[in-house]
Amino acid sequence: TPAPLLYPRVLLKISGEALMGDTSFGLHPPTVARIAAEVKRVHDLGVELCLVIGGGNIFRGLQGSAQGMERASADYMGMLATVMNALGMQSALEELGVQTRVISAIPMDQICEPYIRRRAIRHLEKGRVVIFAAGTGNPYFTTDTAATLRAMEMNCGAIMKGTQVDGVYTADPKTTPDAKRYDRISYDEVLIKNLKVMDASAIALARDNNLPLIIFSLHQSGGFAEVLSGRGKFTIVE
Ligand code: UDP
Repeated sequence: TPAPLLYPRVLLKISGEALMGDTSFGLHPPTVARIAAEVKRVHDLGVELCLVIGGGNIFRGLQGSAQGMERASADYMGMLATVMNALGMQSALEELGVQTRVISAIPMDQICEPYIRRRAIRHLEKGRVVIFAAGTGNPYFTTDTAATLRAMEMNCGAIMKGTQVDGVYTADPKTTPDAKRYDRISYDEVLIKNLKVMDASAIALARDNNLPLIIFSLHQSGGFAEVLSGRGKFTIVE
């Protein structure tokens, strides 16, 4: 018998940079396809899935404003970048036969659906993977905060943050070989130690609403499905 699922509905957050592969900008279609295959494995387990993808592989508002752009305009460019990533992931998932909907916080009716909470929930109930684009729709926020917000609105059991490493470590495991991975850590510890898990406003929002956050590696094939089956390595922030 298959292992019981940790959560029946989750939100997967990935950074835009995860879509770059070994390139230095934009989307690398084979990498997007590889991550889509990870998502499909979890979908095949019967998990209801939401996705939030960042935009840092294309544009970050802070970078633009550091170079003299008005911050709000630069942030809107960042939000548009997340829409491109969402469309790239939608295409890769549908190539694998997974039904999806892209839902944007900023209406773009020719491209995707507008965000209507109850409609998004209905898509999940019907087994569609829902990809939330354009962040929260507001400048001065990040897609980490958008992921936390949507996970709560969609009644997800947890946010799953897929990263390069299999959890949160006491130090950077790439430069500090004896760094230890936390199995479990509190929101406050993440904030006090300034561990780079998600940005502070997202962590605080998750804490105030008791939304668990799971950090795991998206690099091993089958890793996402293993974590949701209660196996595999990860850190849970709760
Ligand atoms: N952004 C925003 N509001 C949001 C979400 C995102 O203004 O609710 C902008 C912001 O400029 C951000 C960019 O979109 O830098 C890309 O998102 P993020 O930096 O979170 O992407 P990631 O680091 O996850 O790739």
